[in-house]
Amino acid sequence: MSGLFLKNPNWPNLLTLKQITENSQSQYGISLISLNFAPTFKPTNIIIMAGNRTFTMIKPDAFEAGNSGAILKMIEEAGFKIVAMKATRLTPELAGKFYEVHKARPFYADLCNYMSSGPIIAAILEKDNAVEDFRTLIGATNPANAAEGTIRKIFAKSIEANAVHGSDSDENAKIEGDFYFSQLERVL
Ligand code: GDP
Repeated sequence: MSGLFLKNPNWPNLLTLKQITENSQSQYGISLISLNFAPTFKPTNIIIMAGNRTFTMIKPDAFEAGNSGAILKMIEEAGFKIVAMKATRLTPELAGKFYEVHKARPFYADLCNYMSSGPIIAAILEKDNAVEDFRTLIGATNPANAAEGTIRKIFAKSIEANAVHGSDSDENAKIEGDFYFSQLERVL
């Protein structure tokens, strides 16, 4: 069925169902299982737009090292616009809530301690294809595996103290942005 879904060459950020089904991490936050096709549905050109916002944090290691300005410069030079931004500090409880999805992982307690160990900068960013492009800009979780020129390659200290956070899906970008920012705190 997926081969029947067409991509419009004039709209590069529109995703075919085939692309989405092949994306095992469900970056686009869409559960195909929940799609309910009516019997008369004609699958000729279903298209779903990738989101244009993502969420980031400059983590305590990068903030403490005085790298926030250089990281924000890289982010802006890569074409991201700042929609909301604040300097703040998480409590261990808030860090635990933010990273609740990792609760079962062995590094969860360390991660919560680390993320509440000092100030951070939280920001919502805007750009076409924001989530995917930002993940490319920051590089792999472990800086040892991050591509040259990526933010984590340049600034991260370790797999835990890896300089920046970047949302992994449109759905999580919205949840994470809402975790930190009210509507009044955002550029409209
Ligand atoms: P991300 O999406 O690239 O940030 O990676 P994950 O969602 O897998 O992990 C969330 C965060 O947990 C990472 O950014 C790291 O700060 C931390 N982390 C990930 N893997 C490890 C690990 O193996 N050990 C430790 N100590 N921290 C980790």
